[in-house]
Amino acid sequence: MAKVLGIIGGGQLGMMITEAAQNLEEVSKIIVLDPTENCPAAKVGAEQIVADFKDEDAIKKLSELSDIITYEIESGNSDVLKKLETHTEINPSPDTLRIIQDKLLQKQFLKENDIAVAEFVKIENKNELIDVIDKMGLPVLLKTRRDAYDGRGNYKINSKSEIDDALDLFAGKTLMIEKFVKFEKEVSVIAARNTKGKIATYPVVENIHENNILRTTIAPGRVSEKVKKQAEKIAEKTMEVLHGAGVFGIEMFVTADDEILINEIAPRVHNSGHHTLQSCDTSQFEQHLRAILGMELGNSSIKSPTIMYNILGPKTFKGEYNVLFKKQDNVYLKMYGKLESKPQRKIGHINIVDIENRGMDELFNQLEELKSNLVIEPKQT
Ligand code: ATP
Ligand code: MG
Repeated sequence: MAKVLGIIGGGQLGMMITEAAQNLEEVSKIIVLDPTENCPAAKVGAEQIVADFKDEDAIKKLSELSDIITYEIESGNSDVLKKLETHTEINPSPDTLRIIQDKLLQKQFLKENDIAVAEFVKIENKNELIDVIDKMGLPVLLKTRRDAYDGRGNYKINSKSEIDDALDLFAGKTLMIEKFVKFEKEVSVIAARNTKGKIATYPVVENIHENNILRTTIAPGRVSEKVKKQAEKIAEKTMEVLHGAGVFGIEMFVTADDEILINEIAPRVHNSGHHTLQSCDTSQFEQHLRAILGMELGNSSIKSPTIMYNILGPKTFKGEYNVLFKKQDNVYLKMYGKLESKPQRKIGHINIVDIENRGMDELFNQLEELKSNLVIEPKQT
């Protein structure tokens, strides 16, 4: 029997999960819970409950209407989900969500399972922070433990004179400190585990951030064979220790001596996996559905190297917008249907696919050309 799928969050990730679900006969209907009326997932055909992600009544209602619940954001209410787990299937499991959504618990969990992470410490006040800096040295990153995205919960402390500013910025939040890693590269692995315990990983990709926001993903990543194998091994080990099914995005640092540390895990499909829409037979969105619906996992190998480039709202305006873009055969534009552009907001992405085997350098040349041709401009009214 086809199932009703409930998704907490109906932004671009929920939208692309919805589109993948529409192609699977195992799913009869999709309902998303999202506070923004007519959210991206609703625009492509999901039903929507308009409410806050943490609204207990709304989550209960979603669970009553759904056979299976999943999420596109990690800030869902894991306590409420835990209570509902007995009568509605929820994947990844609320216990896993609870660990992952708190960066401190997540790092402790990884460390306990012998998975390498940067040195970290929980801190509760200024004195503790000063003590940690004396022991660890500078720079360090002060991080909020919960609800961070696009680096907004991070403050890099380069000198002791910045301590007060850093603590003021995050007043009232639970915090931790992490040693600053001088990484050579940031990479990630999208990994899936289905309800039967089968694991599949996509090849490691390379991620380039600008102003703390992911801008470009290069798939596959330009890393040594050793790093590639090691990163995929770490991802598999992580999937073995985490409970529940679904796709996870595992972000990692690669140091100059090819050491790999996990930066963080997202218990959901991930921006660095958007290339799979064109580069692989099975996109990360379909893979996630296969994983939680108890289906066989699909092929996750990369058929054509691809560069994914995020389209961010320009810094110059906020409001309705038009996209000017020159079509090309190997370039796939995906806009998320967001009504308004805001500075640095993710409003779409492009995948540049090497369908003719011209090599990565050519893809980069094409990307540079596209960057100058792609314009987001205010809509004239
Ligand atoms: P996102 O939404 O991008 O996943 P986030 O807000 O959860 O991000 P993190 O992933 O912790 O934040 O950090 C954002 C970026 O800051 C990382 O991708 C990395 O570039 C940098 N960063 C985070 N932790 C460290 C560290 N310990 N050392 C050096 N750089 C770091
Ligand atoms: Mg991150």
